Amino acid sequence: MKAWQNNIRRVVPYTPGEQPKETDVIKLNTNENPYPPSPRLLEVKQNLDELRLYPDPEAKDLVHAIASYHGLGDNQVFVGVGSDDVLAMSFLTFFNSGMPVYFPDITYSFYDVWADLFRIPYQTKALNESFEIVASDYYEKNGGVVFPNPNAPTGRLLGVDVVEDIIAHNRDVIVIVDEAYIDFGGVSALSLIDKYENLLVVRTFSKSRSLAGMRIGYAMGNEDLIKALNDVKYSFNSYTMNCQTILFGVESIKDDDYFKETVAKVVATREWFQEELKRLSFNFVKSDSNFVFASHPFVAAKDIFEAAKKEKIYVRYFDKPRIDNYLRISIGTDKQMKVLVEFLKTFLNM
Ligand SMILES: *Cc1c(COP(=O)(O)O)cnc(C)c1O
Repeated sequence: MKAWQNNIRRVVPYTPGEQPKETDVIKLNTNENPYPPSPRLLEVKQNLDELRLYPDPEAKDLVHAIASYHGLGDNQVFVGVGSDDVLAMSFLTFFNSGMPVYFPDITYSFYDVWADLFRIPYQTKALNESFEIVASDYYEKNGGVVFPNPNAPTGRLLGVDVVEDIIAHNRDVIVIVDEAYIDFGGVSALSLIDKYENLLVVRTFSKSRSLAGMRIGYAMGNEDLIKALNDVKYSFNSYTMNCQTILFGVESIKDDDYFKETVAKVVATREWFQEELKRLSFNFVKSDSNFVFASHPFVAAKDIFEAAKKEKIYVRYFDKPRIDNYLRISIGTDKQMKVLVEFLKTFLNM
């Protein structure tokens, strides 16, 4: 081993879902929205000369659009390159006590990666048998708390009263509620940010706004938290949001009718799909997100996953303790989900 090799920051990176090269696949493995973003984005014109200049480091237009949409002040919103960027910045900014940060054992698999990257100690808290977060597990003194609501990959929603209970028991640390899927169901914790100065709510344009390719995420909280985040961001890279992204983000927020319409379509398909899954004897937690986390009593998830892939239907399989017999299936269009259901009927011999 060379001496310099001892000084490399070694990390086991996050593994994103597969992005197959072929275009004729049914892609239900990374929770992307099956519908395109608002057609109004096509009318947005980028002034070429403007690209000579650095973008607005504060991304003011986008911050303002998001803040107005949620009835907040501009100083209560922080934007970043996808919520992954926002969450990573939040770990770096808020989890510095040396005490372990708490998050569920089954959850977004980026949390432990950031904790390891930033040398933040952490402890996972086991979901109960029905995959629920148990609030009292988060009562002990800790270095911060983070969880998605609805949780991923389980899709299970926590009532806002339980979310508040966790926040109220952790007033000395920052509690991050990752609401990547909240637009598909459930009550947001956003109404609590004025009451709890230790609460940060994180959202993304990637799922409900069909803009995973643009990379837009944001955090909402009291102005001290937002300032702390911005100070860290400006100490790392001032220009994270590019000109085009800012324009598209603002336009997406403006077309609220389109947004609501596509979310409603995904929700309707999800409800139909869950009924079909029941008929095929799958077990699953009722989903409040744009995916369903399901397990079959007789056929191994891995076998279904592999067989589906041969038919060019991609779903997500996690080879991890407690969830290695589950499939996470993103909700596609009605047509895509019908093809999947037909495949399942044949494969399961039903
Ligand atoms: C998809 C997802 C994110 C990341 O989304 P971005 O594309 O980076 O905005 C964050 N948290 C959870 C729970 C997610 O599922």
